[in-house]
Amino acid sequence: MAKEYLRTKIGLEIHVQLKTKSKMFCSCDNVSEERKPNTVVCPVCLALPGALPVANKQAVLWTIKTGLALGCKINKICKFDRKHYFYPDLPKGYQISQYDEPFASGGGLKFKVGEIEKTVRLNRIHLEEDAGKLVHGNGKSFVDLNRAGTPLMEIVTEPDIDSAEQAGIFLRKLQKIVRDVAAVSEASMEKGHLRCDANISVSDDKGVMSEIVELKNINSFRFVEKALEIEEARLKDEYPKWIVGRKVTRGYDSKKNTTYPQRVKEEAADYRYFPEPDLPPFDTSEFDLEAMRAELGQNEEEKTEKLLALGVSVNDAKILANDESKEKFFSQITKIFKENEFVARAIVQNYFGFLIEAGDIEKIKEYVETLKQLKSGKISKALFGEISSLIHSQNYTFAKALEEKGGGTIDDESALDAIVEKIILDNPNEVAGFKAGKTQLIGFFVGQAMKATGGKADPKIVNKLIQQKLS
Ligand code: ZN
Ligand code: MN
Repeated sequence: MAKEYLRTKIGLEIHVQLKTKSKMFCSCDNVSEERKPNTVVCPVCLALPGALPVANKQAVLWTIKTGLALGCKINKICKFDRKHYFYPDLPKGYQISQYDEPFASGGGLKFKVGEIEKTVRLNRIHLEEDAGKLVHGNGKSFVDLNRAGTPLMEIVTEPDIDSAEQAGIFLRKLQKIVRDVAAVSEASMEKGHLRCDANISVSDDKGVMSEIVELKNINSFRFVEKALEIEEARLKDEYPKWIVGRKVTRGYDSKKNTTYPQRVKEEAADYRYFPEPDLPPFDTSEFDLEAMRAELGQNEEEKTEKLLALGVSVNDAKILANDESKEKFFSQITKIFKENEFVARAIVQNYFGFLIEAGDIEKIKEYVETLKQLKSGKISKALFGEISSLIHSQNYTFAKALEEKGGGTIDDESALDAIVEKIILDNPNEVAGFKAGKTQLIGFFVGQAMKATGGKADPKIVNKLIQQKLS
């Protein structure tokens, strides 16, 4: 069934929920999913007669910022339009969206597929409002308008994607850009903050194209990939018995891992777009685009490169570049304590013993003090963990935490000598092994000394004493 002369074309439309404080055209909280139905609503998002929308400036700026992150052209004049359709969760009878003058056009996203670099061009990014939700149960249907008016950014690609695999790579990279580089959305697919519609068609070598299949609202990257794989195989299988020119919508059943027909579109829907009369157009030259560009975070590859240049190991650099809080923590610490490789290791291996989060930045000086003690061997890893946990959870200073944990390191050689003597007497087998050349047993002896002192022995001195006594 290998029909190599058939080519697959995929285009994506991604809706991204912006994490603004309030909704798109009113001052209601933008927290719909956490509240009881129909409690986060007002005359504007309920579409009561006479209510007037006011555009959320943050949402506008963030859409432009995302456009900058994706190399788009920011259009000088932009406006909102009414897109008309009827649905019970859309009380106005239209959605405020953007038709011919979106905030951003063009641009693209580069990514690697194996060793090959691929670019997917973007068509546009526009801003719109979400509809409410229908909730079905007990043979009844209910309307919840909490979500109505949530700011949605719609990112539309050109049909440049050649396979399900590429679609998966593209989506994961796009998620990181909106979440970490532009930092405008939580972009969680499970929570529906990032929703993907995919269009797929297959053409033969003479340019004859199959029907276009639209897969709607698939809620995980894996399912998008699977649904596209299934459709690609189905269209290739049906060749040459295609119904050319038809557009169909199909759904994906993740339990059965199959797709099923939903509806056939006879003709393009006529939404009767017209300019939203209650919202004046924007002149984006009034915004400071350069300042917005400067605010953009780096993407993962740029971050990894930078970390490598700082002397961080390849593995640690990749992990830090992929985790925003850890990376921030690293850069804050290394501003003061420039042992980059050591600090990266401590964060990646999590010697700290607590979940590293952005809020810890206030306590950086105390952590730096603790790290310095660890680096110079004055405290053990175990004690480091205990002290940093106290700093984290009890707001202790390093000095106070050290005092509470028993006043710090035992670096008195005569005190440690007695402990080491006892360990040697108690462990004749390990002593024999060490003398016979198993030098890695040094770790065992140091560990015993730590155990005996509650982690307070100076590991350097213990090490020296054992070497002296056993060689
Ligand atoms: Zn409202
Ligand atoms: Mn849309």
